Amino acid sequence: MHRVVVVGAGFAGLSAARSLIGRPVEVTIVDQRNFHTFQPLLYEVATAGLESGDVAYPIRVIFGKAQNVTYRFATATGVDWGRGDVLLAGTRPLPFDSLILASGATAAFFGIPGAAEHSFPLYTLTDARRLRDHVLRRLEDVDAHPEAEARGALTFVVVGGGPTGVEVAGALAELLDVAVRHDGFGFARRSGRVVLVDALDRLLTPFRESAASYAAATLAGRGVELMLGHVVRTVTGEGVELEDGTVIPTRTVVWAGGVTVERTVVSDIGAETGPNGRLAVRPDLSLVDHEDAYAVGDAGAVPWGPEEPGRVCPQVAQVAIQSGAHAARQVLRRLAGEATEPFRYADKGIMATIGRRAAIAQFPGGRVVRGTLGWLAWLGLHLVYLIGFRNKVVVLVNWSWRYLSWGSGPRIIVNDRAEDRPTPLGPDDDPPL
Ligand SMILES: Cc1cc2nc3c(=O)[nH]c(=O)nc-3n(C[C@H](O)[C@H](O)[C@H](O)COP(=O)(O)OP(=O)(O)OC[C@H]3O[C@@H](n4cnc5c(N)ncnc54)[C@H](O)[C@@H]3O)c2cc1C
Repeated sequence: MHRVVVVGAGFAGLSAARSLIGRPVEVTIVDQRNFHTFQPLLYEVATAGLESGDVAYPIRVIFGKAQNVTYRFATATGVDWGRGDVLLAGTRPLPFDSLILASGATAAFFGIPGAAEHSFPLYTLTDARRLRDHVLRRLEDVDAHPEAEARGALTFVVVGGGPTGVEVAGALAELLDVAVRHDGFGFARRSGRVVLVDALDRLLTPFRESAASYAAATLAGRGVELMLGHVVRTVTGEGVELEDGTVIPTRTVVWAGGVTVERTVVSDIGAETGPNGRLAVRPDLSLVDHEDAYAVGDAGAVPWGPEEPGRVCPQVAQVAIQSGAHAARQVLRRLAGEATEPFRYADKGIMATIGRRAAIAQFPGGRVVRGTLGWLAWLGLHLVYLIGFRNKVVVLVNWSWRYLSWGSGPRIIVNDRAEDRPTPLGPDDDPPL
């Protein structure tokens, strides 16, 4: 039986493996975590809106009934192209006849001094849990030691004005509102600052100017301070320094500045790379130097389609889902002796939420829906794509409950022992005040 190995169980890997269920191939899906993460809702975990399990789903459960798909809990470290093996950390290599690389990306710090050490990226569930614990601890610090406020304990700086930065900033402002109103903290709401910094002079660059202005006005109306056109020079445990010399004292820098495939397995694959280090692919998504291997989702430089030569797709969920399924279809076509087909991205538009009853949905023609309607569209779409029926129900109930009651939400500091805290790339999250 033809052996297909899929590296990564994100949107792209899941889509590829699901497309191969019941087909005449033996599929192994490898992931370093035993669950799929729904990244678009990580910010809700980080700001105590949802629980971790609501945005993650066990991979074994997804493929439990699929006879020809097995899951391997392992970290891929490279590929032996000569032997046709995926190399796995600490265990025997996994042979393949076809390979689908869907290992995603990670946070980009652009070499800014201190950013990797002292800021909080938001890319994994661990990142989200760490940020939530950290933010809630800062509220407790200021409640117990009001003097900590002057040292930035209640100032939350978000770097990056893309969809993730906008979502986090809006949700942090809401968290402060709710916590002050319902949780009996001794400080005033105005003591809490949320500052969004971006080098560009507008938010949400993929969106139309009108949508970006709406997002900026809504955030400002909710108390978020916008510092657009400001470049971050350094990040330390005590604050952020901007290029113009401004220093913002803070203990919390959320890094939403962009993504990269550096520091992921893509750098160790030994295959040609293209824009931003993403794997270079042919129109059918096979690697330019290995026709039996495909790169999909954030890991690959996925072309928009033959009609727009040279245009590369953005690193978003729809591209991952569509490219994963496309690569799976090409594996089957080659197996059947048929010619492969070029990938064509079907653009379904883009969305971003700013918070309660405020979101933007921009359709392919450029039409923008915003406000409550945009927010309802955003909620509905996220529920559709969230993996697992239980998670859909839990998230819907949670959202509805929070909408009606304001006060609810898992404002729980889980990681209370310093030695328990995973800090793969970031700081010790509890600097002495
Ligand atoms: C905070 C955040 C919010 C986002 N919001 C949106 C949004 O609202 N809308 C939207 O369209 N897009 C959004 N995106 C982007 C979207 O989530 C990504 O484009 C999408 O997840 C890419 O899918 P992927 O399968 O390529 O990679 P991923 O989803 O990153 O999956 C990669 C998988 O590979 C695994 N993996 C990585 N390396 C290895 C290895 N060496 N060995 C084994 N396994 C490995 C990882 O554990 C992971 O499960 C957001 C991203 C983030 C981080």
